[in-house]
Amino acid sequence: MARLHEYQGKQLLEASGLSIPRGKVARTPEQVFEIAEELGGNVVVKVQAWVTGRKALGGVALVHSAQEAKDAAEKMFHLQFGNFPVEELLVEELLDIKDEFFVSLTIDDANQAPLLLLDCQGGSGIEDRADTVARIPVKADGEISKETLLEVTKDEAVVDAIVKIVLAARTNEARSMEVNPLVRLTDGSIVAADCRVTIDDYAVFRHDDLGIDIARELDHPPTKLEQLAYEIEQEDHRGTFYFAKLPTDGWEDTNGLIAFHGAGGGGSMMSMDAVSNEGFTLANFTDTSGNPSVAKVYQAARIILSQPNLSGYFGSGSGVASQEQYHSAYGLAKAFIEMKMEVPAVIRLGGNSEDRAVDILEDSCQHLPSQVRGFKKDDTPGKCAEIFAKLVEETNATNESMTRHVPDFVGSENASSFPIKYGALWIDNVPPEVAEIVVRESNGLLTIGDSGQPEPTEDITDKDSDLIACEIECLRAGHNVVFVDMPVKGLD
Ligand code: GDP
Ligand code: MN
Repeated sequence: MARLHEYQGKQLLEASGLSIPRGKVARTPEQVFEIAEELGGNVVVKVQAWVTGRKALGGVALVHSAQEAKDAAEKMFHLQFGNFPVEELLVEELLDIKDEFFVSLTIDDANQAPLLLLDCQGGSGIEDRADTVARIPVKADGEISKETLLEVTKDEAVVDAIVKIVLAARTNEARSMEVNPLVRLTDGSIVAADCRVTIDDYAVFRHDDLGIDIARELDHPPTKLEQLAYEIEQEDHRGTFYFAKLPTDGWEDTNGLIAFHGAGGGGSMMSMDAVSNEGFTLANFTDTSGNPSVAKVYQAARIILSQPNLSGYFGSGSGVASQEQYHSAYGLAKAFIEMKMEVPAVIRLGGNSEDRAVDILEDSCQHLPSQVRGFKKDDTPGKCAEIFAKLVEETNATNESMTRHVPDFVGSENASSFPIKYGALWIDNVPPEVAEIVVRESNGLLTIGDSGQPEPTEDITDKDSDLIACEIECLRAGHNVVFVDMPVKGLD
């Protein structure tokens, strides 16, 4: 679920008619000083990070002068919340709080409907008081019983505020919206003092105004590579591709930093455990599943390999993937060959067509500087991880000097080229007997043209999967004459 910062959530609440504290976002201690001065000095300074319980972690400071606000800000900008560096602080007028309410709207999966959690003693520690929290059903169209709300809160103004929170959640297609605390001030007015909201990933495209880069939950601001990966995912909807950087602090003291490429949730988790047990630090988590195209797996592997300091590539997910695993094998093989792998790869390709998949991968990668090994469903993640650990130790290399290699005939006048959706197909000028092999491996997409050279029989723009398969099969037959040039945007 895509998360928003507190200040963004509050803007949504304000748009639905709820009162929020006066305040602004700052990116430097000097800005904090200015804003605090504008607000009269009595302010609360709050770290904008996607964590709970900021107050207990030193992320919320109540201060009484602009200088104090600036001092607090200086400390906060040096804090790290999980994997989240502190980049933004919210500076708000200090509220004269009389009562705090806990208001949390979530989706109750069992009932397939929204559910409002409400407690009249909000604030920190609500997690420990679960039994006193009222559970109030909400209809899918946002309708909620005002009578019930009044029974619980005994305050018309609070009921009004809660209805506005529900409206804000519905308008913005929130998956969850929590206001903890919703406060009653000494003058009786109701204000949202905090706000935590997640937007439904599948609705993000309808809300450009929310400025969400990646419609997925991350525990850190998206990195450049994560953004590139997400663009690939958005352009090609054949299967899914997920890439997230993992925290790697202290990896130098482990057996090495490695790339992880899973397929399917449960099996991937098990495989991550298995390879972590061998003492490695995982640089990333990646999943390609749901029958991804060859091109997508190729691009995923390229993104993964562009991370620094890798000493190996471990691929393992569901042992019985219901997807044609030879697609993955072709995609991986192309990436490994193009990058002339100098670090070992162990790939567990269990699932449909696994024999063919392992054969393609191992055979086409056999001349690479490092070993590329394929495994099947009967090989456990534990066994694969053990073999991987041995190979990494023996090879003792990193991907530092690995670069992309493109055959010489690409761009040459003698070769022919044909555009495809993500780049171009290149075919070297070949003698008749090789042209026949190219045509044979093209799955009917190519034929011998008038010039005696292979050329497309039909529109090949979106045939990248078959064309990459053709490239790899020609290589296996000993002919480096076909190349699908598909530069990864932002990398090449
Ligand atoms: P969280 O700890 O990350 O949930 O941060 P909150 O924004 O909810 O702040 C935590 C607590 O600080 C609240 O429950 C309040 O008790 C207190 N607090 C926050 N803002 C103010 C304010 O403007 N005035 C006062 N008096 N207390 C505040
Ligand atoms: Mn809070």
